Amino acid sequence: MAYRRPAAALIAALLVTTSAHAATPDAQARGDEAAFRGLYKELVETDSSWPDGSCTVAAERMGARLKAAGYGDGDVQIIVDPAHPKEGNLSAILRGSDAKLPAILLLAHIDVVAAKRADWERDPFSLIEEGGYFYGRGTSDDKAMAAAFTDQMVRYKAEGYRPKRTIKLALTCGEETEKALNGVEYLLKNKPDALKAGWALNEGGGGSLDESGKPVSQGVQAGEKVYQDFTFTATAPGGHSSRQTPHVNAIGWMATALARVNAYDFPVNLTPAAKAYFGASASLYPAKVSSAMAAIGAGKASEADYAAVSAESASWNATLRTTCIPTLISGGHAPNAQPQSVTANVNCRIIPGEAVDAVLARLSEVAADPKVKVTLADPPQPKSSAPELTPQIMGPIAALTKEMWPGVPVIPRLATGATDGRFTNAAGIPTYGVSGMFADPDGQGVHGLNERIRVKSLLDGRAFLYRLVKLYTQ
Ligand SMILES: [Zn+2]
Repeated sequence: MAYRRPAAALIAALLVTTSAHAATPDAQARGDEAAFRGLYKELVETDSSWPDGSCTVAAERMGARLKAAGYGDGDVQIIVDPAHPKEGNLSAILRGSDAKLPAILLLAHIDVVAAKRADWERDPFSLIEEGGYFYGRGTSDDKAMAAAFTDQMVRYKAEGYRPKRTIKLALTCGEETEKALNGVEYLLKNKPDALKAGWALNEGGGGSLDESGKPVSQGVQAGEKVYQDFTFTATAPGGHSSRQTPHVNAIGWMATALARVNAYDFPVNLTPAAKAYFGASASLYPAKVSSAMAAIGAGKASEADYAAVSAESASWNATLRTTCIPTLISGGHAPNAQPQSVTANVNCRIIPGEAVDAVLARLSEVAADPKVKVTLADPPQPKSSAPELTPQIMGPIAALTKEMWPGVPVIPRLATGATDGRFTNAAGIPTYGVSGMFADPDGQGVHGLNERIRVKSLLDGRAFLYRLVKLYTQ
């Protein structure tokens, strides 16, 4: 158990105050937990997978709940691109009393990865509670946060909470598949006001449990690496394979160039999240690497410290620098001919803030052969930057974590995968992954079979997010 549960009578007494420091909100004890469970069930049971399900239906159902709580028609909008009628989004607003303060955005996607009934032990679109877990598609990714955010907007309205800072809620579609319309991109282009904010809370963070269910760390995601493919091309005159002429062999050129790329380490580019990650987690690792990690966290790392950390783990290396590796190659046209052309794909994961053009220029330099041309394989993603970990953002997260999960460290990190945060960060809305929902070490079936979330983790996260957003806005 992560924090002590006060007696029900004490909770009831504490509930009458809305001060940030007053109530230890225990979801079990709150009268409105049943309403939350109903909302969560309705959201999970609305199939919003692409192409069979409908985000629009899910958005409308959440919108109806917000309106029933007292939000006016102008404060809840269902925003649908007419060309994508099932890929709708919801935007809601609780206006702050100080119009000069930038808003906070609560961002969650409501689409889910498709799930086949035949492959699952239980119906993926029925919410099933069993053995302390909720099972169902989206129970974790990302309907846990979408439901918690919607529920807290309902509760703020019901209790007459008037924040100083405006609170915006965006429930968006199209995060899980490239084939669907991405709701965040669509809103940024067509309804930017729905998302405009000083910063955003999003998926991508969350706590970690150990094998025994004990909370280990509270993760805060701050920034995401940028995906980019590059095409390497070499062409040569060709000729008969009986004549060994290395200076005209395109496969030889390509092989040499790719070997150089493969062996090359981009320079360390330490983001605020990576620096904080190594500082905060150094003590959890053996002496062999912990002093190097602590040195990175303190901003005093030597080349040897970076090398020690990079050598220890490929994921740690990936959080320190841009990485590029060859992933596809094809070339030649006959077993008995000098090849006339070779192409290869080099996949890069770029540290946010680095220019794609600079990475391209560096790859050409490293390939070091003018006969091997390097070009972009796809148009670049919007250029992102890594959000700062300011006291304004981190202070309330640290204070609440200390109270709800005493002794559990808050550990920021740079993500090497991607969420919708790549669009909001690029649009100048610093986006933080934080949920207060603690996950099992096995990944909880997210995107796979039998997706689940621990009931206690969901309810604790709901209490955490409700209080966190109040601390940010009162
Ligand atoms: Zn997700």
